[in-house]
Amino acid sequence: MKMSSTLAEEQGVVISKSVGQYRVQAAGGLLVCGLGGHVRAEAGSLVVGDLVRFAAAGPGAGTGQIVAVLPRRNTLSRREAAPRPGTYPAEQVIAANVDQVVPVLAVADPPPQWNLLDRYLTLAESRALPALICLTKADLVSPVGLDDGELAETLAEYRGLGYRAVVTSALSGAGLDELRQALRGRVSVLLGKSGVGKTSLLNALEPGLGLRTAEVSRATGKGRHATSQAVLFPLAGGGALVDTPGTREFGLWDVAADELALFFPEMRRWLGACKFGLNCGHDEEPGCAIRQAVMAGQISPRRYQSYMRLRAEG
Ligand code: GDP
Ligand code: ZN
Repeated sequence: MKMSSTLAEEQGVVISKSVGQYRVQAAGGLLVCGLGGHVRAEAGSLVVGDLVRFAAAGPGAGTGQIVAVLPRRNTLSRREAAPRPGTYPAEQVIAANVDQVVPVLAVADPPPQWNLLDRYLTLAESRALPALICLTKADLVSPVGLDDGELAETLAEYRGLGYRAVVTSALSGAGLDELRQALRGRVSVLLGKSGVGKTSLLNALEPGLGLRTAEVSRATGKGRHATSQAVLFPLAGGGALVDTPGTREFGLWDVAADELALFFPEMRRWLGACKFGLNCGHDEEPGCAIRQAVMAGQISPRRYQSYMRLRAEG
C-alpha cells in the first residue's frame, strides 16, 4: 500500500480506533472520524489498515465521517485471548491490508521464546505473507554470542528455512538501517510480547513518534496502551508499522490442524510421503515421513515440537 502520496483527497487509512471513533490518515492530514449511518453495521469489523472513503466536516476541520470501506486485500487475525465467560473465543482481526509480518523477540531479557516465534511464522505462512524476524536488544549479548552458540545456531536454522532475520538494538542503533530498508514501502505488523522492546524500536526507527516505553510508563505509573487495539504508524520513508499490544497468549485463528504442516516450510516436501498419506497427523502413526525426517536430523526436533504443540491446540 502506498501511503499518503497516492491517496485521493477523500480516501485514507484507519490508523487507530476507539469507541465509535477512528483516526484516519489522509493525504491532507489526520482526521478523527465517526461512521456514517449506512456503514455503521460494519463498525465491529473496521480495523487498523482499512482503507476508507470519508467526507470531511469542512476544510481543515480535522473531523469527518467515514462513508465507505474499501475491499480488503487481506486480514491478519488471532484467536480472542479472553472471551466473555460462557462464550467461545472469537476471531480478532488485528489489521487489514498487510504486506509483512514482523515477529519481534529480544536476544535476552526476556530470553527468546522460539516456540512463540514459530507461532507467528505459522500465522504469516497461513496468510501467504512474508515474515521478517526482528531480534532486539543485541547490545545485551557479546558479539561472540551473536556469532557463536545457541542464538547464532538457532538464527542460522531460521535463515536456512528461508526467513530473513535482522538483529537490532535500539540502544546502540545496530541493525536499524537494515530494518528500515526492509520495512520501507510496506505495511508491516509487529508481533511480540510486551517487554521485548517494540516501543523502543519504534522510537529508534522513527524518532518523531515519542512513544512511551515500559520504563517511562513505570516511572509515571501510566500504562503505555490506552486501548488494547493495534495502532498504525506511517513511516517517513513510506509504508507503515502496526504495533499490536503484546498479550500473554497468541492463539492462531483459522489454521486447521490437518493443514498445519503446510505452514512449516521444512515439512512440505515430506507431505504425501507418509504411509497414511494426507491423513497422517505426523504423530505416532506408523510410516510417518516427517517423524523419520526428524529422526534423521532433516527437520529440527524443536520445530517439530512447535508443530505438535500448535496441532494439539487445533
Ligand atoms: P515493549 O513492551 O515491547 O514495547 O518494550 P519497551 O520498548 O517498553 O522495552 C522494554 C524494556 O526493555 C525497557 O526497559 C527498555 O528500556 C528495554 N529495552 C528496549 N530496547 C532495548 C535495547 O535495544 N537494549 C537494551 N539493553 N534494552 C532495551
Ligand atoms: Zn506423517
